[in-house]
Amino acid sequence: MSPTPVTAIAEASEPATLEEAFLPDIDFDPDELRDRYRAERDKRLRDDGNEQYVEVVGDFSNYVDDPYTERVEREPLFDEVEVAIIGGGFGGLLMGAELRKAGCESIRVIEKAGDFGGTWYWNRYPGAMCDVESYCYLPLLEELAYMPKHKYSFAPEIFEHSKAIARHFGLYDNACLQTSVAEMRWDDDQAQWIISTDRGDRMRARFVAMANGPLNRPKLPGIAGIDSYEGHTFHTSRWDYDYTGGNSEGGLTKLADKRVGIIGTGATAVQCIPHLGESAKELFVFQRTPSSIDVRANRETDPEWAASLEPGWQRRRMENFNILVSGGDQDVDLVSDGWTDIFRNLTGIAAKTAARRLGRRLTGSEKGRLMELADFQKMNTVRSRAAEVVEDTETAEALQPWYRQFCKRPCFHDEYLPTFNLPSVHLVDTDGRGVERITSRGVVVGGTEYEVDCIVFATGFEVGTTYTRRAGYDIIGRGGQTLSDKWSDGVKTFHGLTSHGFPNCFFLGFTQSAVTVNVPHALGEQAAHVVYMLNEAADRGCTRIEPTIEAEQWWQDEMADKARLGVQFYEACTPGYYNNEGKLGNPNGFFSAMYGAGPIKFFRMLDEWRSTGRLEGIDLS
Ligand code: NDP
Repeated sequence: MSPTPVTAIAEASEPATLEEAFLPDIDFDPDELRDRYRAERDKRLRDDGNEQYVEVVGDFSNYVDDPYTERVEREPLFDEVEVAIIGGGFGGLLMGAELRKAGCESIRVIEKAGDFGGTWYWNRYPGAMCDVESYCYLPLLEELAYMPKHKYSFAPEIFEHSKAIARHFGLYDNACLQTSVAEMRWDDDQAQWIISTDRGDRMRARFVAMANGPLNRPKLPGIAGIDSYEGHTFHTSRWDYDYTGGNSEGGLTKLADKRVGIIGTGATAVQCIPHLGESAKELFVFQRTPSSIDVRANRETDPEWAASLEPGWQRRRMENFNILVSGGDQDVDLVSDGWTDIFRNLTGIAAKTAARRLGRRLTGSEKGRLMELADFQKMNTVRSRAAEVVEDTETAEALQPWYRQFCKRPCFHDEYLPTFNLPSVHLVDTDGRGVERITSRGVVVGGTEYEVDCIVFATGFEVGTTYTRRAGYDIIGRGGQTLSDKWSDGVKTFHGLTSHGFPNCFFLGFTQSAVTVNVPHALGEQAAHVVYMLNEAADRGCTRIEPTIEAEQWWQDEMADKARLGVQFYEACTPGYYNNEGKLGNPNGFFSAMYGAGPIKFFRMLDEWRSTGRLEGIDLS
């Protein structure tokens, strides 16, 4: 597993413009592609935007019931801890680990699921795996002396690793699993949070770390008739193995006599469709927009390579990956996979080659144009792959994505496309319009009713609604102000981690921080920063940590300033949760609450802030 040297393609000529410099590599017409992308986007735009989805409440609340763990009754708690962590996914686990490393003994993780793992607890669908290289993605590998089995881990291994982290750092002690927070209220006299839950608890915590996760609430499509269907249904994040048989490795034997419909073709569907296709009597895949399916090339971990790693290897690998996928330069590409390949091509090799051919540095606008050309080229290879692998021409054409690669989550899979060569698997392409109607018997597209015994909703997770709606509870801060009110028109924090009026409350995740492709990396940085503040407060004998209103306003200005970077790009994208279903400007949108200058700058900024020791912008008392 030797690293790939990052080199430019040698070329010497004297073109005058960027397009000429890039021309020798172009075998397509950029204008034609631009027109096609625009047309595909336009036909998918809809007036209802994000409102097209149904919230999983009321008649739909059964879609979020936990099918994996039986509920255990317990007495309500009225006790006190130093730090409460809400959420037992990677955010909560990393927070807990950092706190333990700093010597904190009084910790309580509150988690609505029956165990730790977050997204890896819930997403147990067949074929579930992580797209990001396991050696970077699975946190704390060196601390736990664990080496993942494959370059890309399957979900059960990640779930097991999550539990191992919780065991290693003693996070099961005192944890409240199967517990949903109902409300958090600040008690200013005691400088404590009072946390009420659906178990009747009313516990107190000096500090609270919120690690709710960004994509934690399943959503359903608001398709007419969705509540009239009489067959079986479930959402991919609550897979019903009682109905399908099998497990996350597949073998869904109970589907052998079933006609199954799956709605959605995003990253989740791409992973479970090969198993449904293999097991179901018939599978109908209802597609609105095809995903970009690049090469996966998973492989087992080479024990010799693993044995050769020097201490500190994971940190170095994570940083190398983060820098490359954030558009930075590195001498070697340690991960060398589909992600780094995209970025090296978009920002690295292509730019270096063009600059060499032009005999000068590229201007900012040239870099943007070059990225577009490199993107066209990349997506042409993705489209060619579909055309080569899928035998039926019409199906192959329908599976080709017409948008820039980062308009949607890029997917990497080697069995998805071949599944459409099975005679029992039918792609029902809706030409961007989506499913027309659901009847008591099945799914209607283009006036044809497809009768199915079961519908699997692979329709993703709520994005673009308010933080407190997605969390499922409100936070009542100093002076009775609610977070839902304060953040009604968007998240407002200082450095993405604290919010004025909500002392001792820390937000992890996508709340005005920078996030990277390898999300646990960002969560780890955030957790370490929070623990730094807690240590500083303790050293100075303080019990309250709160950002000043001025510091928070400065961060809003900084966020607004850097946000401009991606607007043009997403405006031209086909609708999806990345661009708020084509309606930019939603302050709660996916990228609205992300620091636009990227993770390298963000992590460096936090580091520099800590190194001054002044806690600028934070009131300690
Ligand atoms: P997505 O939101 O990505 O996909 C939802 C799918 O449902 C889309 O294909 C969407 O089509 C389709 N859809 C919605 N409404 C309709 C309708 N009315 N008719 C037909 N189709 C419809 O959800 P996923 O669960 O697939 O993925 C969510 C995220 O989870 C990913 O983006 C990724 O970040 C993460 N993930 C990561 C994995 C990993 O490897 N690390 C694996 C799986 C998920 P359209 O595109 O037209 O909107």
